[in-house]
Amino acid sequence: MAKISINIATGSLQQQEMIVGIDLGTTNSLVAIIHPESKKPVVLKEHDGHALVPSVIHFDGTGTATVGDEAKKYLITEPHNTIFSAKRLMGKSYNDVREHASFFTYKVIDDNTESLVKVQAGNKFYSPIELSSFILKELKTRAEHILKTQVTRAVITVPAYFNDAQRQATRDAGKLAGLDVLRIVNEPTAASLAYGLGMDKGEVRTVAVYDLGGGTFDVSILRINSGIFEVLATNGDTYLGGADFDRAIVNYWLSKLNLNETPAAEMAQAFRLQAEEAKKHLSVSASFDGKVGEYPVSLSKREFEDIIMPFVEKTIQCCTNALSDAQLIIGDIDEVIMVGGSTRVPLVKNAVADLFGKKVNDSLNPDEVVALGAAVQADILAGNNKDFLLLDITPLSLGIETMGGLMDVLIPRNSKIPSKVSRQYTTQKDGQGSMRISVYQGERDIVKDNRKLAEFNLTGIPGMPAGLPKVEISFLVNADGILIVKAKELRSGVEQSVEVKPQYGLSDEEVEKMLLDSITNAKDDMQVRALVEAKTEARILLDMTNNFIGKNRELLTIQELEATENAVQRLEYLLISGSKDEVQAAIESLNEISRPYAERVMDQAISVAMKGKKI
Ligand code: ADP
Ligand code: MG
Repeated sequence: MAKISINIATGSLQQQEMIVGIDLGTTNSLVAIIHPESKKPVVLKEHDGHALVPSVIHFDGTGTATVGDEAKKYLITEPHNTIFSAKRLMGKSYNDVREHASFFTYKVIDDNTESLVKVQAGNKFYSPIELSSFILKELKTRAEHILKTQVTRAVITVPAYFNDAQRQATRDAGKLAGLDVLRIVNEPTAASLAYGLGMDKGEVRTVAVYDLGGGTFDVSILRINSGIFEVLATNGDTYLGGADFDRAIVNYWLSKLNLNETPAAEMAQAFRLQAEEAKKHLSVSASFDGKVGEYPVSLSKREFEDIIMPFVEKTIQCCTNALSDAQLIIGDIDEVIMVGGSTRVPLVKNAVADLFGKKVNDSLNPDEVVALGAAVQADILAGNNKDFLLLDITPLSLGIETMGGLMDVLIPRNSKIPSKVSRQYTTQKDGQGSMRISVYQGERDIVKDNRKLAEFNLTGIPGMPAGLPKVEISFLVNADGILIVKAKELRSGVEQSVEVKPQYGLSDEEVEKMLLDSITNAKDDMQVRALVEAKTEARILLDMTNNFIGKNRELLTIQELEATENAVQRLEYLLISGSKDEVQAAIESLNEISRPYAERVMDQAISVAMKGKKI
């Protein structure tokens, strides 16, 4: 079924393993591969024809995990031990999810810190990484069962707005499940690939990917140019999806039946399942009739559409926002791609087609399309599609903090990845033995307005005068968008590196806000930057002057010392509250005063040095 190759060392036949594509979804997860004969992407199905595995984990009394449909049965009856939507917690701290705490029916531990969140089930604690790894392990086992071969290598998809912490967490979950994660791919990129977009060299397309899943909605605007996928904008609502439709239907039925109090757990579960059934049925017919216990329930397509209209309108507003963020108009969009099970609802499809004024791409199953695209990517990585290279780009700029708290960008936003940049820095103080390297992500000029990703010390720099050490800092963003920072003092060879695993994540709203802030604050930032630079220059000058006076006091006249003292005091005073122009003027006048004697002293030092030398 897969390629056969011969192991030269042993002479034996080796079956080359295939790389699978995995859609690790909030509601459902699944695996796809490129079919070895048809060369087309296909999802892996169980005998019963099921491809989707609900992303639900149930822990029994002994802490044994069950994943998928089996686990889903316990959602309502054992809410404390049944974990759903673990994906929402990936790379997050409790503070990040605090406002949505009531959404989780299981225990999310409030440790009031910025460290990564944990979940309690029974008397055990689990990180979202572990929880996702249970799902991935289940997918791996199923895939091996279906393919009758080992599966160890995978491509996993994540939402376009996932930050480094969330991507790293996803990768770690894969590792924990025994998978070698070759690539993390954006879901909208995968969906575009499944539709064959971006596969032609020289092709430039602007694509809107509308993804309405079980619990989340996001829309991404991509620009595809010769295999490079650039995310121009993302928008959405991380708490809006098909589950809201189900809940709204249940409430509608309950009010029609005059059932005012919330039904008991089992009954509530039955209502919810029936509502989902009705919703799916109405995607293909005009009315639904069913029963929950002894209660007859019914729903017409018309009623259903009225119920969900507000949700759909909200998603349309998000699309409009995304377009304006990308500074595009509707006519700029070449293709619209439908992703997520909830886009099967005709009202949703029509609303999106109406907005964009064109037919949407919906020929592939919307809940399979991301996995199919992941399989296409896996195939490219396996080298089966040699003249095609898939590139992604960095969503936010990456840089380090330099003197005065300024952001020095090494890798600008929208750089193609993988990407590597090196730059040289030096020390500020004589004999400085270590250098603190703080890594930031964001668009603002001042680091404290950006997000700190990591911090480390380059130690063991041999004692040298300020400015002499050559510290080379290199940033490497690998193909998964993970950043590796290296610092090396080139004269001595001491070096240090970190792989950036941020402590906690940013929400998609925050990423967007950071981008917006950088635009609205650009002017302020420039002014602040100019002031900080002037102050930094002033500090260096003050240091040098004090140093110089300390060493050469007896070579200076009383007048020179006094004038210097005054200029130093004025500059020190302005450092606290002076404007950029004032600081610069004070620098100028201190320079004016010190230049004559500095030159005199230098000349003397040179002639002293020359005396001892035989020419
Ligand atoms: P996610 O990306 O969140 O993991 P999916 O893309 O698998 O989720 O979408 C799951 C959602 O799609 C569920 O709310 C489910 O009820 C809904 N869904 C699936 N099939 C249909 C259908 N035929 N009509 C309407 N909604 C559907
Ligand atoms: Mg999805």
